[in-house]
Amino acid sequence: MKYEMVIGLETHVELSTKTKIFCGCTTQFGGEPNTHCCPICTGMPGTLPVLNKEAVRYAARAGAALSCDVQTRSVMARKHYVYPDLPKAYQVSQFDLPLCLGGYVDLSNGRRINLTRIHIEEDAGKLVHTSRGEMIDYNRGGVPLIEIVSEPDLRGTDEVLEYMEHLQTTLRAIGVSDCRMQEGSMRCDVNLSLRLPGAKEFGTRSETKNLNSFTAIAAAIEYEYARQAEILDAGGVVIQETRGFSAETGETSSLRSKENSDDYRYFPEPDIIAVRLSEEEIAAIRGALPELPAAKLRRYTDDLGISAADAKLLTKYRAVSEYFETAQAGLSPKTAASFIITTMFSEITTESEREHWNPSVSAQNLNELLGLSESGKINRATVKRVYAQMAQEQKPASAFITEEDTQVFGDGELSELCRRAVEENAKSVADYKSGREKALKAIVGFVMRETKGRADAQKAEQEILRIIG
Ligand code: ADP
Ligand code: MG
Ligand code: ZN
Repeated sequence: MKYEMVIGLETHVELSTKTKIFCGCTTQFGGEPNTHCCPICTGMPGTLPVLNKEAVRYAARAGAALSCDVQTRSVMARKHYVYPDLPKAYQVSQFDLPLCLGGYVDLSNGRRINLTRIHIEEDAGKLVHTSRGEMIDYNRGGVPLIEIVSEPDLRGTDEVLEYMEHLQTTLRAIGVSDCRMQEGSMRCDVNLSLRLPGAKEFGTRSETKNLNSFTAIAAAIEYEYARQAEILDAGGVVIQETRGFSAETGETSSLRSKENSDDYRYFPEPDIIAVRLSEEEIAAIRGALPELPAAKLRRYTDDLGISAADAKLLTKYRAVSEYFETAQAGLSPKTAASFIITTMFSEITTESEREHWNPSVSAQNLNELLGLSESGKINRATVKRVYAQMAQEQKPASAFITEEDTQVFGDGELSELCRRAVEENAKSVADYKSGREKALKAIVGFVMRETKGRADAQKAEQEILRIIG
């Protein structure tokens, strides 16, 4: 690539408090248009907002989890603009005194992406295109949001996607948001500029608004790179502007020239006193954080010896990692990890299913089953069969294990059987010796048939090789 990308993100995340930021209306997604509303969140004259303290605590928890400096005093401010989704003609946000300053996200390539700030604000309503024309739904208006602003530290699509995934996993793990991009509870604006490698100054950026999927983010970055590179190649200058992205065409297009913060005529919100959190409250919020996904990932790879790829899958969804922790208790973590990933992940494939991970076999029951296998009481074929039965009937493993299943083949017994297998399969033995590797499978197959699949196939193979050695 000829130019280096410089990217800073503004990420909006809806907080999953029960009620809205200034009234008691529900924050639930969906619902008939304009049914989750009241005079406050539709901006009726004469109403007064009451700040939802829970939203402040959620925002502070997000800040704590992202290593921000959570402020004891921050101030809500009015940001003015006129648009039908904003009935008051201003959005209550924070400006010069936000709730959180600093913070960072560490990427797997060792680079640290610094955060500028996190502030609290209210969401706006939604314009809906219908057959009767442009309609407005205020259900989303007044849902509490945080905006996470990064420094222009990101250098490409991979870094941007990993950064977004980090925010998503972390915020889900601490329970402040479900971060569902498809429902709009997480969306981001991509600020992107180009410069020649080694250049000290940043170029002029464009800001592409409201990207609501990882695919859209990647496509918008690619498009903006090509568009700006073409301008620069031709000796032109990039104009600072706000752009929109169309998922249909994969293109961005100009919405308006970039506004300055002056244009918003910010001023402190006179109806809400300063937001205060005591040092003690902030310390308590930090102290109550669970183990964060990034730390968990490190523990799974470094202490439990799980591969980085598997550890990533297991830590991505809180419900999955909780399930794994119970399923592996007292056993080899690798066995449990590989069982969950190979057997169960292939059954539960959608994002939302994994997010709400609730398999029909409980973690305790799986733990018992894997325990029986690890201690050599049952073999792999039995594990597979019993697992399928457990999934059907939601009973513990013991309900499906017969005496025959647990009939252990002692080493002596197995050795005896292998000797017979060699004797009775002289042709396969000869074939194997003359170089047909596959013939060995036939001899092992004899042992498996004789034991109705209860012998350990790997052990049998080793023993047979030793005998014909
Ligand atoms: P505004 O609030 O007007 O959108 P800010 O200066 O707060 O502007 O920056 C918004 C975002 O743009 C931040 O994430 C910041 O990192 C990013 N940014 C600022 N300058 C550049 C640049 N030259 N190239 C890319 N991103 C930039
Ligand atoms: Mg902006
Ligand atoms: Zn309301």
